[in-house]
Amino acid sequence: MAESTHFYELFQPSHYNVSLDINRATKQISGTSTITGDAKETGIAIHQKYMTISAVTADGQAVPFTFDDETEAIHIELTKTGETTLAIDFSAPLTDSMMGIYPSYYELNGEKKQLIGTQFETTAARQAFPCVDEPEAKATFDLAIKFDEHAGETIISNMPEVKTENGVHYFDTTVRMSSYLIAFAFGDMQSKLTTTKSGVQVGVFATKAHQAKELDFALDIAKRSIEFYEDFYQTPYPLPHSWQLALPDFSAGAMENWGLVTYREAYLLLDPDNTAFETKQRVATVIAHELAHQWFGDLVTMKWWDDLWLNESFANMMEYVAIDAIEPDWHIWEAFQTGEAPMALQRDATDGVQSVHVQVEDPAEIDALFDSAIVYAKGARMLVMVRALIGDDALRAGLKNYFATHHYGNATGADLWAALGTASGMDVGAIMTSWLEQPGYPVVSAQVVDGKLTIHQQQFFIGDGKDAGLQWQVPLNSNYDAAPAIFADTDATLGDYAELRQASGEPFRLNVGNNSHFIVKYDATLLQDILAHLTDLDAIAQLQLLQDLRLLAEGNQISYADIVPLLPRFAASHSAIVNDVLYGVATNLKKFVKEGTTEEQQLRALFGKLSGDQIARLGWLPKAGESNDDELTRPTILSAALYAKDDAALTAAHDIFTAHQDNLASLPAAVRVYILANEVENFGSAALFDQLLNDYRKSSDASYKADIAAALPTTPDSALVAKLIAAFEDADTIKPQDLRAWYRGVLAHKGQQAAWDWIRNDWQWLEDTVGGDMEFTTYITVTTGVFHTPERLAEFKAFFEPKLNTPGLTREITMDTKVIATRVALVEAEKDAVNAAVAQTVNG
Ligand SMILES: [Zn+2]
Repeated sequence: MAESTHFYELFQPSHYNVSLDINRATKQISGTSTITGDAKETGIAIHQKYMTISAVTADGQAVPFTFDDETEAIHIELTKTGETTLAIDFSAPLTDSMMGIYPSYYELNGEKKQLIGTQFETTAARQAFPCVDEPEAKATFDLAIKFDEHAGETIISNMPEVKTENGVHYFDTTVRMSSYLIAFAFGDMQSKLTTTKSGVQVGVFATKAHQAKELDFALDIAKRSIEFYEDFYQTPYPLPHSWQLALPDFSAGAMENWGLVTYREAYLLLDPDNTAFETKQRVATVIAHELAHQWFGDLVTMKWWDDLWLNESFANMMEYVAIDAIEPDWHIWEAFQTGEAPMALQRDATDGVQSVHVQVEDPAEIDALFDSAIVYAKGARMLVMVRALIGDDALRAGLKNYFATHHYGNATGADLWAALGTASGMDVGAIMTSWLEQPGYPVVSAQVVDGKLTIHQQQFFIGDGKDAGLQWQVPLNSNYDAAPAIFADTDATLGDYAELRQASGEPFRLNVGNNSHFIVKYDATLLQDILAHLTDLDAIAQLQLLQDLRLLAEGNQISYADIVPLLPRFAASHSAIVNDVLYGVATNLKKFVKEGTTEEQQLRALFGKLSGDQIARLGWLPKAGESNDDELTRPTILSAALYAKDDAALTAAHDIFTAHQDNLASLPAAVRVYILANEVENFGSAALFDQLLNDYRKSSDASYKADIAAALPTTPDSALVAKLIAAFEDADTIKPQDLRAWYRGVLAHKGQQAAWDWIRNDWQWLEDTVGGDMEFTTYITVTTGVFHTPERLAEFKAFFEPKLNTPGLTREITMDTKVIATRVALVEAEKDAVNAAVAQTVNG
């Protein structure tokens, strides 16, 4: 197979007539894909995967063909080039892989039911019907779908249905679009509808296993997001409707199919009467993300998968821009600082990480591109950096132009930089190239040398890294005018420090707002100055200070032992994000202690010392009228109190549990997981375990289920751990989409050995079950997140190194081996100093 040949170069489709017959009972799909297009050569290839092709005609004449799954192709010999209409008859199995066309399973009033849905990104449209399955191969589509239909069932797709004849549902012709964005679903659904100011129909669809009120929040956010984007982009929503559909089985978080966005139930539906604010924020940002794609990704699409970042980085920024506009009181950008920013900074510091923009051809490697820390989080930071540089007016003007130029077509990163460059008068491309084409990021060191304030940039690594002398064009965002706007050199001298300090009246700082993708290492003089004025800093600046120090400690540039004494200075903060990063640093100290030791007791005491006043202030239960910050801080503090084994806190939680024992789902959602975890860990029994696992099976409330999945693995009882592991492969209890969270939970607690044994023994089962989807590699990532001993490192290598050549796994295994090795070395080198600092801070 000529790997570099895209099928689109051989045959360019303009229109499809796809007719499908889907039978849930026999688990069979059959149909005909009729494709009109322009044959550039007589030997062409059309994508298919896992299909049987029974006939191919070109302009009504049978033509020779072969097909195989190796090349995922039907190879067809035509008699002429030019305009051709192909008709391909096919059949395929309906499988449970959560890719292509697949069933979701759920129960309604004790009856097992199915909802059929689709997931085509990146390369699974070819599992549903033969097509040129490449983003550039845009065409119009007529879908006609028949299924083993029962009375009362609904079918929906990208476009409205126009007629039903003889049980076949015909949908309106789509606009010109990519195959990976086609979607449909059918089954027994409920829905709620509304209309935007501009007349777009908005709807939320779900199974009837949910209460009707669970659809309301999403409907409101979807409507207002579309209204926001129509205004912000100055470009109308291009389709008649925007459906949001919750699927009970869904591998990723959500998928931006044009006009029919699909979601995990947890990311769309929520009980307005009992849902944590944090969950509402997450659901809202997921919806806003997918709806941002309706223009950026769907209307204008990347030319090839190497520019996937263009879609995802952009949508990942816009979800915050949109929610900040429609819910300004939420201060949603603060969540960006505790979510995306540290994720990107951590991962991007490991040598061997991919750059945001990467060349890619093999389908298995395309799925591995979805490195959320890089393509989503780092990419979003790049665009946040651009937005800060050029401002919203230029951003909006540039986007309007970009959509007008490329609508219903494709574009590359260079096209976006050109549009934004024209709008802003800046050479945006030149600045961004250093960030997008190079992996990693710099640490900028600021020092006072011989009285002069100097800065220096160098690539930052956690673990061994080969310094290749990379340089970045760094937007410095300093509070001192003497610092350049863009720092493109290795070194710069800013002037006489004493004079600069005198003139500005405040400590020298870089990356104010934390919008640029670099960290700062201040020398002792500068750091002491900042710490002496700590209370003058806003929440983001305080977070940034601790976050950068933590990264420097991970990278061996300073010691964790130097950070520990600083922690109490942040402990009284009323800011949720400062508390988030504070306890994030504290949690990082857990790797330095062994279970059951004096050192562990001292660390628990440190958590108690840090959280004691806050738990007294906040209490276990949400209070009416409290601030968003208090509501968001409480869970962080409760988690700390549980680790501290604070007797009063544990008893208080136990009492709340007892009061709600008959209806645990009714516990306030914001704190429910901690009350359940406390009960399982400290007051648990086999009866409680069974009660919770049974609730997990029966409940359709995704947030309650997630709480149970987080609480049960805290059990110290090895017999109960074994029961959990036995449920891992029982899809009636734990759906494959939720298994990774369970696995991680057990691995991070007393059941570590059992979970680790399970994944090694049953790797083949795991690969067979979820190996086909893009989330597969994250099982390795979450394992890596937990391991920190030489024994586990050796076992990890022994198990994964033989799998190094598995397509799609190579980079993850290489990176993760390095991550664990670095952590093990850090623990060995630092544990004595860190534990001494903890003891001194507790007792001092
Ligand atoms: Zn996305």
